[in-house]
Amino acid sequence: MADADIRLIPCRSDNYAVLVHDPESGTTLLVDAPEAAPIARVLDETGWALTHILITHHHPDHVEGIAALKARGGVTVIGPHDEASRIDGLDELLNDGESATIGPWAVRAISTPGHTSGPLSYWLPGLHLAFTGDTLFAMGCGRLFEGDAATMWASLLTLRQVLPDETRIYCGHEYTQKNAEFATSVDTDNAALAARRKEVEAARARGEPTVPTTMRAEKETNPFLRADDPALAEKLGLVRAEPADVFAELRSRRDVF
Ligand SMILES: [Zn+2]
Repeated sequence: MADADIRLIPCRSDNYAVLVHDPESGTTLLVDAPEAAPIARVLDETGWALTHILITHHHPDHVEGIAALKARGGVTVIGPHDEASRIDGLDELLNDGESATIGPWAVRAISTPGHTSGPLSYWLPGLHLAFTGDTLFAMGCGRLFEGDAATMWASLLTLRQVLPDETRIYCGHEYTQKNAEFATSVDTDNAALAARRKEVEAARARGEPTVPTTMRAEKETNPFLRADDPALAEKLGLVRAEPADVFAELRSRRDVF
């Protein structure tokens, strides 16, 4: 399989959309549509014809560009079955564990509820690429708007178990610097985390994105993926607590950080 061309597109205040283009087949996949204009600009610059849009969840800052981009023609919009009634413009629906073929790529849908009730994360194993929307962020995770802590913890565990370490992970927002500050406040003697925080601060000072991350980096530095680590539980004063309860404590501390 030929390498894909990938473009990370900043949208709105801190959203990301991602374009994945296959030069051989001309397939051009967009993941999430926060707004149309910056995405249309990249399509016009590159000459890529948009063929597919994958939507992670129903929030306006992930779907508001669908209609205008679809109006360019020739676009199939694919999204989560469980949120279909709340997303306009979907052509095809996916459930947990189902796969779609998009051009040369197999795309597997992984149900990751917690931030919303029925979102999907998407895994393209052939490209070692995953899109986790507002579920897993670099060094963080999404807020619990439509699910409880146990639900979100289960979703993060699924991603940790399913996605190989080398997977490049794109998330929906540039929240990494704040996430790093929080992570170092709770996970105080994690050398990998401290080093990564420095890298993130330097990248942001240069105006560069911190996305994508990798599953390997998240396993080492993301406290929300490590709620079952007894050493982290102890730092939170939660010795022998259930991982879901450790996760809940982390999430509620982050909510007011
Ligand atoms: Zn969201």
